[in-house]
Amino acid sequence: MGATGKVVALDAEARHAPGRGRTPRVTLIVPVYNEQESIAPFLDKLSGVLDEIGALASLDILFVNDGSRDATERLILAAAAERADVSLINLSRNFGKEAALFAGMNHATGDAVIPLDVDLQDPPEVIIEMIRRWIAGAKVVNARRARRDGDSRFKAMSARAFYRVFNAMADQPIPQDVGDFRLLDRDVVDAICQLGERSRFNKSLFSWVGFEAEEITFDRPARATGETSWSYWKLWKLALDGIFASSTVPLRIWTYVGILMAMVSLLYSVALLARTLILGVDVPGYASTVILILVFGGLNLFALGIIGEYVGRIYTEVRQRPLYIVRSHHPSLKAKD
Ligand code: UDP
Ligand code: MG
Repeated sequence: MGATGKVVALDAEARHAPGRGRTPRVTLIVPVYNEQESIAPFLDKLSGVLDEIGALASLDILFVNDGSRDATERLILAAAAERADVSLINLSRNFGKEAALFAGMNHATGDAVIPLDVDLQDPPEVIIEMIRRWIAGAKVVNARRARRDGDSRFKAMSARAFYRVFNAMADQPIPQDVGDFRLLDRDVVDAICQLGERSRFNKSLFSWVGFEAEEITFDRPARATGETSWSYWKLWKLALDGIFASSTVPLRIWTYVGILMAMVSLLYSVALLARTLILGVDVPGYASTVILILVFGGLNLFALGIIGEYVGRIYTEVRQRPLYIVRSHHPSLKAKD
């Protein structure tokens, strides 16, 4: 028996120490795609927030230029030339917001990151409260949209429907009306970057990695400048991507449909056979044809379901997600790795 059986006293500092002694640093990850009108207002608004955050934490801004074809890059470079807290990653073409965010998370160096949109729909002043919660101990701080001023009725409705369908099927539910705008502690970001899949749906990855999350609410304003580059078609594709990336239910469902069909068709076949034997043949070939169709239809679906089970397993394997994510170690072993 080791002599180290004593309970390690944990003060709040040891449990959670953003920045570990230094002023904690937060990286804002800002994906931008053809946003030349939005850069200046965004930086303006942010400077007010920077003043208010003051001694609490230092902020740096990491723009991820997702293949913009307008003056976005030039404007960001001009800002970066003037101030040390602005940096830029240029992607080689437009890869979409999900990929841009991932690039940002891979390159961010802060003790926490906050992805936010450049169009001021994720109001920068919310960041202050996020950082306060983080310093007080939260690993994840979600920002829930209380109102969606900028969204049409149809968009709000389809968003609600999406969350309902998604949460009914996914391995890990996602909080409703929480977008990518949230604070993620370094431990959480590292865990997310470790997930092996290529087709990534951030919202679902954020919740899959776990860690206790706190929630604050804000009113989501309409876009300040420019216009959204998300068409309904793009959103629909994102929704499908999200569901198929986070769930094998659409594959598995066929096993049950197949079993049900096979059972129903068996019963119907028996009834049909009995009727034909007792009452005789009224339409020649009807009973045998229908029975064959039903039996093979049921068998087909059932076999598809079984293949689906294996495809589902292959999918789980190729993603190479870690089997678990450690929240903390006591006494701390972190220095070893
Ligand atoms: N964005 C991006 N790549 C894209 C589309 C959008 O990086 O292919 C960025 C965009 O510049 C903005 C954020 O993602 O900073 C959110 O985009 P948008 O405001 O168009 O989406 P919405 O607010 O309508 O969901
Ligand atoms: Mg927007």
